[in-house]
Amino acid sequence: MSELRWHPLLEEWVTVAPWRQDRTYHPTAADCPLCPTRPGRPETEIPEPDYQIAVFENRFPSYAGEQGRCEVVCYTPDHDSSLGAQPVAHIRDLVSVWQDRLAELSRLPGVRYVFIFENRGEEIGVTLSHPHGQIYAYPFVPPVVQRELQSSARHWRKTGRCLYCDVLAGEGGGERLVAGNQHWLAFVPPFARWPYEVHLAPRAHRGSLLDLGGDEGDAMAACLKELLQRYDRLFQRPLPYVMAMHQRPPGRGHRHSHLHLEFYPPNRTADKLKYLAGSELGAGAFILDARAEDTAKTLRELVL
Ligand SMILES: [Zn+2]
Ligand SMILES: [Zn+2]
Ligand SMILES: [Zn+2]
Repeated sequence: MSELRWHPLLEEWVTVAPWRQDRTYHPTAADCPLCPTRPGRPETEIPEPDYQIAVFENRFPSYAGEQGRCEVVCYTPDHDSSLGAQPVAHIRDLVSVWQDRLAELSRLPGVRYVFIFENRGEEIGVTLSHPHGQIYAYPFVPPVVQRELQSSARHWRKTGRCLYCDVLAGEGGGERLVAGNQHWLAFVPPFARWPYEVHLAPRAHRGSLLDLGGDEGDAMAACLKELLQRYDRLFQRPLPYVMAMHQRPPGRGHRHSHLHLEFYPPNRTADKLKYLAGSELGAGAFILDARAEDTAKTLRELVL
């Protein structure tokens, strides 16, 4: 079991999981645990000769049993591919997988939040290069989500409106738009903390993936693909990023929560990274050398 330790100054949980030191570190493609099990080769995490999308429990979980769950979501059997390279129909299937896992993990006793995310690229510290994301079912509401819920609840009480809907209202055809369709928008928020940060959100007020209509799920897949293609076109190579999905926690209430995905690429330029340093880590104050309007224009005008 992991040990949860309370940080009284920041009022947040720190999870201590020492066994994660032993996790698989940069295996070669031939030893990739996320590839299908090839005939005559040792069994991988997926004991099948092929798959479309595969989900399994992390062997080195931060949370397990009564504390929650950690799952790995393999986007494709193709080791050298990427999510953005998949057909829209395949990404649509991934949206359905996310919805299934969200519904099931939300029902586990003790789970307070289900966090769907992806770390991509060595720059982010990824140890397995096979295209995959993760899902953590936490025994608490993590602090970033907690803060967003508090601010949106306050805005809802004060104005009767959703805070994120108000953020979106300014972005429809605006200068910070990156991609969009009838149901979804991808944009650089004016308050971005990373140079090429992008938010992806449904235009209508939807609290979680489970509130999306079928056509909104289709539109999400199309918008996500376009964003990922733009990201990989930016510097003509797979752009590293963290993808974080924020949505309503399991259970009742939280009508003010609005589903959105946040992407944080660490790159300032093709070969310069933004590092979190004194001001960001020690004071929580992000300083940025790029304007959202300019990075959005760069991403939007890339020819796919
Ligand atoms: Zn692989
Ligand atoms: Zn809303
Ligand atoms: Zn958020």
